[in-house]
Amino acid sequence: MTVLLDSAMGTELARRGFELRAPRWGARAIEDAPHLVRAIHAETIGVGAQVVVTASFGLGERDTQLAAASVALARDAGAERIAGSIGPADPSSPPAQRRAHLLALGEALVRGGCDVLFAETHTTVGGAREALEVLRPLGRPVWVSLACGTGGLTLGGNGLRVAFEADAVFVGCTEHVGLEPALARLAPHNATLGVRPSLARTTDAGFDPSGAHEHDVVQSVLRCAERFDLAYAGGCCGTTPAFVASLAHALSS
Ligand SMILES: [Zn+2]
Repeated sequence: MTVLLDSAMGTELARRGFELRAPRWGARAIEDAPHLVRAIHAETIGVGAQVVVTASFGLGERDTQLAAASVALARDAGAERIAGSIGPADPSSPPAQRRAHLLALGEALVRGGCDVLFAETHTTVGGAREALEVLRPLGRPVWVSLACGTGGLTLGGNGLRVAFEADAVFVGCTEHVGLEPALARLAPHNATLGVRPSLARTTDAGFDPSGAHEHDVVQSVLRCAERFDLAYAGGCCGTTPAFVASLAHALSS
């Protein structure tokens, strides 16, 4: 059985009129629009999401109170299982600073009461491994997600025939046609796999949200669930609660 995760937070906030801007982008909403965050969580739970990912992607090292608050918002919305989202540290910052960023946010999410730590959207294998090294000692299961292109490499160009010291490895924030090539490389080395495709097409100019159809993305996830015995599936950028509903329907039929 594939466990269902929720859909995107950042792009869904934007679709509902919340302005995504630096610093923190969508994670600004934890403080400035908590009702919206709670409503999006509650809607995805209502259509079948079994794991809710916190709105903390985009927080920095000093945002520990907001990180803990993001777990409370998920809990208030009725989440039974909460994955605390931690984005990659700035790769151009020194290693000690990157580790401090990951550790501060990981500790805050654990303090807030998350069930799983989710190191999300790593574009390099090295970045993912570094996050796992820092987060594993914190006493929660740790999931990692790799953002991939369509040819089975990470967006940073790394190969994926790699064993990760993670409780689950996701191909996330990836165009749906990129899921299978990435999973095929990960599968021999990693027992527990998940996907969180974007409802978008990756172009030279970035994400083209008009480029993928929900039906095709759901079909891709279904194929992956069968071929790789996926433990987890949900949605990333551009996906909505309606996508979770379609996925729930498809996975259960
Ligand atoms: Zn994404």
